[in-house]
Amino acid sequence: MAGIVKFCKPSAIRSLLQRSTKIGCRHVCSSADLPETHQLLKETCAGFANNELIPTAGQNDKDHRYPVEHVKKLGELGLLCVDIEESDGGTGLDYLAYAVAMEEISRGCASLGCIMSVNNSLYLGPVKHFATPAQKEKFLKPFLNGDRVGCFALSEPGNGSDAGAASTTARLDGDSWVLNGTKSWITNGYESEATVVFATTDKNMKHKGISAFLVPKPTPGLTLGKKEDKLGIRATSTCNLIFDDCRIPKENLLGEPGFGFKIAMQTLDAGRIGIASQALGIGQAAIDCAIDYATKRQAFGSPISKTQAIQMKLADMEVKQESARLLTYKAALLKDAGKPYTMEAAMAKLAASEAATYIAHQCIQILGGMGYVTDMPAERHYRDARITEIYEGTSEIQRLVIAGALLKEFNMKN
Ligand SMILES: Cc1cc2nc3c(=O)[nH]c(=O)nc-3n(C[C@H](O)[C@H](O)[C@H](O)COP(=O)(O)OP(=O)(O)OC[C@H]3O[C@@H](n4cnc5c(N)ncnc54)[C@H](O)[C@@H]3O)c2cc1C
Repeated sequence: MAGIVKFCKPSAIRSLLQRSTKIGCRHVCSSADLPETHQLLKETCAGFANNELIPTAGQNDKDHRYPVEHVKKLGELGLLCVDIEESDGGTGLDYLAYAVAMEEISRGCASLGCIMSVNNSLYLGPVKHFATPAQKEKFLKPFLNGDRVGCFALSEPGNGSDAGAASTTARLDGDSWVLNGTKSWITNGYESEATVVFATTDKNMKHKGISAFLVPKPTPGLTLGKKEDKLGIRATSTCNLIFDDCRIPKENLLGEPGFGFKIAMQTLDAGRIGIASQALGIGQAAIDCAIDYATKRQAFGSPISKTQAIQMKLADMEVKQESARLLTYKAALLKDAGKPYTMEAAMAKLAASEAATYIAHQCIQILGGMGYVTDMPAERHYRDARITEIYEGTSEIQRLVIAGALLKEFNMKN
């Protein structure tokens, strides 16, 4: 990207936010049409991605290495608590800013984008909205600057898409909750120092009997499973959290008893904007890689970018990318305006994740053999793109959310 702003100090990001809250522009039509503050934020994140993430992402992927120094820098930049209020020590920006920053960071390193999205939306999101002031002192304020990260434990070995069927239990025993069960696929499982956990407190009430809890890590009775060996986002850790008579103080209940499912669904609505943005970052990285290669690679006496076959591919890639970006901005703007956005967040995640997979696939095709080897980033983009169609609700579940909203609207009108 031309004219990259130099690596920004946290104070610079904080001064951006002071202006951002006053921005009146709510008709964003493309990334070129962002409000000035968001544009500046995008350029700052792009500088970080270009200078520090792109050169190291491939090696971290090969080594399965958690990028601790980059997590720390995200914290210093205020990018691990983008929409947490300033009064609570957060960056105080809006969700459009979060989407813009997530895309750029994920363009540089999709694993770092994943770590950023878990801390911002899956961990701090529910803590921000449902924690008491005393809980925030312990579970929010220490998780803002990159010294500590959190995680979110909803999925189980027996239920992922059907999140209401949680079999992990929490039983009140004197002044403690006692947790039993296994949570699976937990991102940041190894590095996190606290988790939001969902467990059944009243089995008869089905999903209305699920409650949310704040569990510090380590805690006696909580152990970690093996680190999963994954197709993509290999610089993140994913593992089971195993609760065996794990005791936490009674006051670690998050929100009201029985509100857990509602908290989880509300958290995922916002989180899907983050995953859509992660997918945009991967898609953009693949487009950049494909164009760069196509203009340099010679075949039959001229660059392959001169062939119409390659141009058709590039055009289709860009149309999918920009369409998904607009859906993502729309969902973020609705959230920022305090309007319903469940359906739009699902549309954004569906479109952006499928676009990223398509674009990364075409990128490999454009690179030919070089797309298939680890010397070039195309194969990593392809592997990284795939997860965005699975976590925080599969593409099938997004379609159910969208169709459900459409049918509800139709029934209300008729
Ligand atoms: C790398 C990684 C990181 C993750 N991080 C986290 C995390 O931090 N925290 C967390 O809680 N979870 C996490 N997850 C779990 C993730 O959210 C689930 O894997 C996902 O929701 C799908 O659940 P499942 O794997 O049990 O698949 P299943 O629910 O078993 O689905 C299998 C297939 O059936 C389809 N399907 C299921 N129900 C329906 C239906 N009603 N209609 C149509 N199709 C359906 C699905 O779309 C899918 O194609 C992570 C997963 C991975 C792989």
